[in-house]
Amino acid sequence: MDKAHTLAFLCDSLRALAQTPSPTGMTHLAEALLMDKLRQLGFSPWQSHKGAVFCQLNQVREGAGILLSAHIDTLGLMVRAIKPNGRLRITQLGGYPLQYAEQENVTVFTHAGREIPGTLRMNQPAVHANKDLSTLERSDENMEVVLDMRTGSKAETEALGIRAGDFIALDPRFVQSGEGFIKSRHMDDKASAAVLLTLARAFSRAEAACERPVYVLFTNYEEVGHGAAAGHPAGIRDMIAVDMGVVGDDLQTDEFRVSICAKDSGGPYNRELTGALADAAARLDLVYAVDIYPYYGSDTSAALHAGCDYRHALIGPGVAASHGYERVHEDGLWNTLMLLRGYLAQPV
Ligand SMILES: [Zn+2]
Repeated sequence: MDKAHTLAFLCDSLRALAQTPSPTGMTHLAEALLMDKLRQLGFSPWQSHKGAVFCQLNQVREGAGILLSAHIDTLGLMVRAIKPNGRLRITQLGGYPLQYAEQENVTVFTHAGREIPGTLRMNQPAVHANKDLSTLERSDENMEVVLDMRTGSKAETEALGIRAGDFIALDPRFVQSGEGFIKSRHMDDKASAAVLLTLARAFSRAEAACERPVYVLFTNYEEVGHGAAAGHPAGIRDMIAVDMGVVGDDLQTDEFRVSICAKDSGGPYNRELTGALADAAARLDLVYAVDIYPYYGSDTSAALHAGCDYRHALIGPGVAASHGYERVHEDGLWNTLMLLRGYLAQPV
């Protein structure tokens, strides 16, 4: 496997995914992108009723199946109401402090398919007119979306085709800043989705292999908790959620490592599978960390709570400043890809 070309494919895929808006609940554009890319690689992907993308990466029919998931839905906003002044009251999609989205450029997607630009900001954002600006709570009452359109009334905004329930995407501000760093919103979990797509490419080129049936699953409702709850192929024994590694506090994960989670808010991960992944990382000489994520849930919880009898694990690239303007590094992406490829190559 040529590292430079593989990483270039991974980073290009990541850029394309990051720049495709997919706030949770409006993920059809990212689904279509993945369906296209998987077909271009020679696969036959399929979708569940709610839009999750599935694909088998090899032709193996017998043996304990393994499911690798990443989520393509992201944080975002929705129109809650149109104010008398024509601006938008918002409601959040997913959990994050609103100051992480303050002054961000946004796009409103109307029901009829129009895309209207605007900015999320404080109701009175001028320093010269608001002495309390720095101390006011960043809340959906104190913040609003101002459209880049000539509108000063509810009727004028309605005439643009905007109504309650329209989705709003935050500008990802994708920057490949040199030295291998990538800064962008939504690296959670598009970084892992790009890793899985690159793993698919490796299978398509016979640069990866597995004796067991291997499936990838791109879920589209992880941020609201039911991403991987349904639609799985039969015969799965193991599920590995590939999702962001937490950077912070007393954790060992950083942006250069593949992070292996031993326990999160949902309790401990499967001891055998998690141990096997850590052993594989050590054997492959990868830069990795085993950590506890104090405030975290993954798509495996959705699957287990839905009744799936799986061994479950969680790994992923370290993502700094999660749910804000996030940062990853090529090394973390590469170590995640190599751990998946190396673990899958192990004899059953
Ligand atoms: Zn995530």
